[in-house]
Amino acid sequence: MIAMSVEYTDAPATRPEPSTGDTMPCPYCGHLLPKDAEHCDRCDWTRGATETAEGKASDAIAVILSIIPGLGHIYKGHRLVGLLWMAGAVPVGIFVLLAAIASAGFGIGLFFFYLIAVMLHAYAVDDRIVPPKEDEGEEY
Ligand SMILES: [Zn+2]
Repeated sequence: MIAMSVEYTDAPATRPEPSTGDTMPCPYCGHLLPKDAEHCDRCDWTRGATETAEGKASDAIAVILSIIPGLGHIYKGHRLVGLLWMAGAVPVGIFVLLAAIASAGFGIGLFFFYLIAVMLHAYAVDDRIVPPKEDEGEEY
């Protein structure tokens, strides 16, 4: 008996069209606006408030996000670097934990050195606008 159903293998995907084809919800109040709306007529949202023209990332936000090591880098588009910082935080965190146990909590301060390093780097690193298409490698 080989009549197992295979209908799901290459069934034509019934893609539900997004209901908001030519509209978008206001980021502030959710009011449906035309997709190219420059401002909301229900609240004070303007397109410039949430979209910077060049997609320029904010250094300050990158630093704040670096409270979680790597997040600031990912925010700026450096996903690989961000993940490396994140991965680096694990052994550093374990070391700090051991140091903290050994020194009655004092070692926790060591983690701030790591955080500061991450934050400085997140601040200094250039934005990397993520290309829409996957390119080879993440070199930089
Ligand atoms: Zn609105």
